[in-house]
Amino acid sequence: MGKKQQAYDKSMERYEGTGAFDEAFAYDGKDLGAVYTKEKTGFKVWAPTASEVSLNLYEQGDGDNLTETIPMTMGERGVWSCEKQGDLNGVYYTYLVRIGSKTSEAVDLYARTTGVNGNRGMVVDLRATDPEGFDKDTRPALVNPTDAVIYELHVRDLSSDASSGIVNTGKFLGLTETGTTNADGLATGIDHIRDLGVTHVQILPSYDYATVDEAKLDTPQFNWGYDPKNYNVPEGSYSTDPYHGEVRINEMKRMVQALHRNGLRVNMDVVYNHTFNIEDSYFQKTVPDYYYRKVGGRYSDASACGNETASDHAMMRKYIVDSVVYWATEYHIDGFRFDLMAVHDIETMKAVRAALDEVDPSIMVYGEGWTGGDCAIPSSEQALKENMARIDGVGAFSDDIRDGIKGSVFEAQDQGFISGKDGMEESIRFGIVGATPHPQVPACRNDKVTRSWAAQPGQSINYISCHDNLTFWDKLAISNADDSEETRIRMNKLGSAIILTSQGVPFFQAGEEMLRSKPSATVEGGFDENSYASPDSTNSIKWLEKAKVLDTYEYYKGLIAFRKAHSALRMAETADIQRNLTFMGGLDANVVGYTIENHANGDTAEKITVIFNGNADAAIVPLPAGTWEICVNDKTAGTASVGTAEGTVSVAGISALVLVQGTDAVEK
Ligand code: CA
Repeated sequence: MGKKQQAYDKSMERYEGTGAFDEAFAYDGKDLGAVYTKEKTGFKVWAPTASEVSLNLYEQGDGDNLTETIPMTMGERGVWSCEKQGDLNGVYYTYLVRIGSKTSEAVDLYARTTGVNGNRGMVVDLRATDPEGFDKDTRPALVNPTDAVIYELHVRDLSSDASSGIVNTGKFLGLTETGTTNADGLATGIDHIRDLGVTHVQILPSYDYATVDEAKLDTPQFNWGYDPKNYNVPEGSYSTDPYHGEVRINEMKRMVQALHRNGLRVNMDVVYNHTFNIEDSYFQKTVPDYYYRKVGGRYSDASACGNETASDHAMMRKYIVDSVVYWATEYHIDGFRFDLMAVHDIETMKAVRAALDEVDPSIMVYGEGWTGGDCAIPSSEQALKENMARIDGVGAFSDDIRDGIKGSVFEAQDQGFISGKDGMEESIRFGIVGATPHPQVPACRNDKVTRSWAAQPGQSINYISCHDNLTFWDKLAISNADDSEETRIRMNKLGSAIILTSQGVPFFQAGEEMLRSKPSATVEGGFDENSYASPDSTNSIKWLEKAKVLDTYEYYKGLIAFRKAHSALRMAETADIQRNLTFMGGLDANVVGYTIENHANGDTAEKITVIFNGNADAAIVPLPAGTWEICVNDKTAGTASVGTAEGTVSVAGISALVLVQGTDAVEK
């Protein structure tokens, strides 16, 4: 042990990686965790710095019911193992790990489920957790990431307001209920999402997280879930019974199955970049300090949550790869949104992409191409937005288009292209081409990025709002407090039209299509820009409001339908965008327009012209030759023609105009 321990201590001082330690101990076996059969269960845990490891078996997931402690044997590369005969389905377990003079009880990092609050793992017969027909469950079709329209949703928010009409309030099962309505008889829940026409639901973290007490579910509690505890286990508070480990698995699978049956793919938000804290983390209890980056003896904190994990260490990288593959195969998850993705190194994100390609290349991988603070690895190795061109098949959120449209998320008063700020045309053009290189977009001179960062349009996740910061509607209420509600609705429509016509992958926060607000629970008349632990009254989707916002809802729905009907808006290759998309010159300030030609990407329309007017007054814009059918204007959006234009056209103040030409597909 002495020699190994020495190599370990030495390597931990180096932030670049673990070098000799990984060389000596990194384990690439597929058998870590509890490998269950009806006859016996094998247990394996990687703990090379431990002097003693044993397995504790329990009757239940909590309480005083230890039944047996079995010593484990160290084998190759620091892997400890033991076997237990018999059918252990439903048996709870932990590992006792002795390092130096300290013994810690840890949940298996590869635990497939746990008891209440994730304090003990549970051996589980995974096949017995499959809902009926799950073996026949298939992913809805998706050809390119640019065909996706992503709807970001917190499991609880969908149903926590009484107006949802959903029985399984705040649960995975709430996303299996069809036929639900609000008091006006308008669709809620999964029916609403399906009717809207999005292709993907992205659920906020739904693996086991720390801060909601699963033993007190009668007490109102809320958390976004960016405080991971057990990475391969569904969150217990979203199940109807957090005490029996098989229930949460079954119910989450039922959610995925129901969404798939309704034509919706399911992406999951994953937070491998940090743990809730260091001292209670099962990483730390199993192999102290190995899974975290340190600089000069201190824990690096690129997550701004007190620590950052070390994806550049072989076993952390393996852990992330194994975990996403597990979710993709066992739960049929269709995509992964990486929280603070730039905390991870490029090699890890490439490994994630390669491993998921083996499962299904249409599984999406994207994330936040930034960190929450200084990172211990060099920026050249981080999965930063600026480095996206080096990571094929992985995307990043475009804060460029986000802030270009509505103003900075860090300055509530700041406005954008839609809300009265001059000089934002470049940011909008930058977003329209999905952050890819384009001859007419030489650089974006806003305060963040100066050059294109996406090699392909599928790498740019275009959005205005997500769970973070003010909702789109609340932002407008603050930045444009002097404007009427009617004007702010025009701004909202213009913003959504930009997102849903641009090249790349459109994304929006659930409820944006219903002018969602997050009213502050503490400040009268205020808004909550960081609602991670705020009550349901702030976070919930208020379905009662739907009747009042149907106009906006129908506009989003129409834009989505238009996008789906026109593949020219979904080009998969940068070269196609360069060849087919041309910006108009000589337009007024705060007006951006472009035409896509050549039946781009197999579109039924020969040409599409899109014009955005950020000015309060109408803009007169000369159209390319011929007669154009109008499908989107300031009032309505859809696939059918609502009128024609020829020569010059007047684009109403604060609005979008989308016209098509040379198609039989437009209903007239
Ligand atoms: Ca939990």
